[in-house]
Amino acid sequence: VDTIAQLQLVLGPEGVRAPGEISERYLGDWFMRAEPGVRPAALTLPRSTEDVSAILKICHAEGNPVVPQGGLTGLAGGGVPIHNCILVSLERMRAIVEIDPVAATMTVEAGIPLQAVQEAAAAAGLLFPLDIGGRGSCQIGGNISTNAGGNRVLRFGMMRDLILGIEAVLADGTIVTSLNKMLKNNAAYDVKQLFIGSEGTLGVVTRAVLRLFPNPTSLCTALCAVADFDQVYDLLGRARAELGGTLSAFEVMWPAFYRRAIAGRRKVPLGPDFGAYVLIESMGSDQMRDSDRFNEFVERAGEHGVLADAVIARSLSEGLALWSIRDASGDLVKELAPVANFDVSVETGRTGAFAQECGDRLRARFAGAAAICFGHLADSNLHIFVTAAVRPFPEREIDEIVYGCVRDWGGSISAEHGIGLVKKPYLSYSRSPAEIAVMKALKAALDPRGILNPGKVFD
Ligand SMILES: Cc1cc2nc3c(=O)[nH]c(=O)nc-3n(C[C@H](O)[C@H](O)[C@H](O)COP(=O)(O)OP(=O)(O)OC[C@H]3O[C@@H](n4cnc5c(N)ncnc54)[C@H](O)[C@@H]3O)c2cc1C
Repeated sequence: VDTIAQLQLVLGPEGVRAPGEISERYLGDWFMRAEPGVRPAALTLPRSTEDVSAILKICHAEGNPVVPQGGLTGLAGGGVPIHNCILVSLERMRAIVEIDPVAATMTVEAGIPLQAVQEAAAAAGLLFPLDIGGRGSCQIGGNISTNAGGNRVLRFGMMRDLILGIEAVLADGTIVTSLNKMLKNNAAYDVKQLFIGSEGTLGVVTRAVLRLFPNPTSLCTALCAVADFDQVYDLLGRARAELGGTLSAFEVMWPAFYRRAIAGRRKVPLGPDFGAYVLIESMGSDQMRDSDRFNEFVERAGEHGVLADAVIARSLSEGLALWSIRDASGDLVKELAPVANFDVSVETGRTGAFAQECGDRLRARFAGAAAICFGHLADSNLHIFVTAAVRPFPEREIDEIVYGCVRDWGGSISAEHGIGLVKKPYLSYSRSPAEIAVMKALKAALDPRGILNPGKVFD
């Protein structure tokens, strides 16, 4: 019996789609499409962990490649089909298994969209703090497999910090259930960590135990301007010391980004000629007290000459208006096309100098090139949009220059989006041969036939 017939036997006709029935949606992620001519052999839609196990057992026996897919909002090509693969989409596994208010956990199936988790937590009076632009479509399984970051990492950490337990299915169909709900568990190796950030190459995540937090009831936001970039670090130190655990965002925009983000707006909060702009947010549990503390922090920074100017939001809508400048990145990247888009990290205290050097190297090669920078500075995460007037657009050469600069500065070529296919050629710029050898040893041990997402992350 061939692979497809075996899959149909286990999953029923509605659980398997033949190549002609697979819609375009499954043929790429947010960033890239499969090469023309690349066709999956089937799309499978499991309903349970046992279904996933059965799919993998069949594929393992046949040596058939498997590509796990979540919400396909990935920005590194990790979910892109490879030729003749079996796609495993978790979209029918979206149940909330349990909310435990005492443990402050939510146990879910991996196909649940992030936004559904956020809403269920809020309905229970709690917070699931991961928040990224693709929240309506991306799935918890995808968030785990990419170790997603986003806007509140400074306060709550990345996905890795928000996970207590995982259930995953190995390449041969073995189910590894580790749905731990305890904050402390040092009983030898923490197996769940293998599946976080490994982009579907070591197992298919089927369920997870997520950490929940008290819902913040106060929110303060300010947009600050500093005269020169070095004052950004001073401001960060003050924000950490004076706002303590309430500090929830510290987003830096370089002038080239800010000017483009406010272009065409009738009302702009701050002029365009400062050295850098910082969006600062705090979240707490007492609006009056937290507002006083926040306002005093901003005033003191002004008195000490750290701030050149600042606007404090007086309402939720004013706060959202300030955030809309930072969030203009989504539209900006479309307006700037053709553009090369980077998500890198360097040590926080060297970010300004790194951005300067990276821009200098780009301009030395392409006169008039622009490096438009913004990022989650306290997380050492920098986003860069690079434009150049050269046509055809020299994307590959720009990648070489930026990733080469990251390598020379000891940074990471991927702060939060993962490696997938897009950054595979540059993995060695941020990971040593010994680190890559450990990764390959793990891959060989857990997936000896190399069927899980082959060709992604490394060859
Ligand atoms: C507008 C926008 C904004 C974004 N902002 C951010 C951001 O701020 N921070 C950030 O980190 N990311 C961001 N992203 C990227 C993306 O949303 C994240 O990488 C997200 O975690 C991917 O989830 P997904 O379900 O869409 O995964 P997919 O794209 O479907 O898959 C991503 C990878 O995970 C694997 N995978 C998916 N599900 C499973 C599973 N159940 N088991 C095993 N492997 C699996 C896939 O094989 C692939 O390698 C953004 C994307 C968009 C479109």
